[in-house]
Amino acid sequence: MSADITQLTSRLEIVRGGVADAARAAGRDSASITTIVVTKFHPVAVIRALHDLGIRDFGENRHQEAKDKAAMLADLDMTWHFVGQLQSKKARQARSYAQVIHSLDRDSVVDALVSRDRDVDCFIQLNLTDDQGRGGVLPGDLERLAEKVVATEGLRLLGVMAVAPLDTEPRAAFAQVRQASDRVRAIDPAATSISAGMSGDYREAILEGATHLRIGSAITGNRPPAG
Ligand SMILES: *Cc1c(COP(=O)(O)O)cnc(C)c1O
Repeated sequence: MSADITQLTSRLEIVRGGVADAARAAGRDSASITTIVVTKFHPVAVIRALHDLGIRDFGENRHQEAKDKAAMLADLDMTWHFVGQLQSKKARQARSYAQVIHSLDRDSVVDALVSRDRDVDCFIQLNLTDDQGRGGVLPGDLERLAEKVVATEGLRLLGVMAVAPLDTEPRAAFAQVRQASDRVRAIDPAATSISAGMSGDYREAILEGATHLRIGSAITGNRPPAG
């Protein structure tokens, strides 16, 4: 049922249309925007169906689930994005299945990802709330963490990632993300990407320069209850 191809196809078309419209409104090329489909809680059949529909970028936010799904789908050509909060104990393992990690937010996670083998692409997650317990680095610590990531072997910094807080107008939140992106770029000119925008706010994110959208329910439908 949840892998209903007709429904997936039509939701995907709606989102692709929305992305194209917002890109046009922003004067941007929609080819410069990657849509990551966040498939948390959905069975691998949904991921296979989306892969058949041309999706190659998938996101998960829980370590064990991501690891299991990557193993079950090892036959597919795809890019796994880890978008959830990462404990330093699990961070090293995330390297084994995720090609992109969106949630660097503290020294211990960065240290756990050190490697001589292969660079993993990563984003520094920003905390746009006043709640320190949320994932993400606080604005005052951004430059310091960015310098540390750049100096760490085995990490390639793509840019910044954020989730818009519920109590803020999304466009204003994403304008803050754009400013943070400028600050990171001053440290690493190659770190030009912005991971921002979800089902409810991807249009606003595109208007503020998002290059990587993380879209779940608008494409997959409602999530089944946490397993
Ligand atoms: C679940 C999730 C998303 C997608 O959320 P939707 O509102 O379903 O689009 C994006 N980013 C992160 C970090 C998530 O955990």
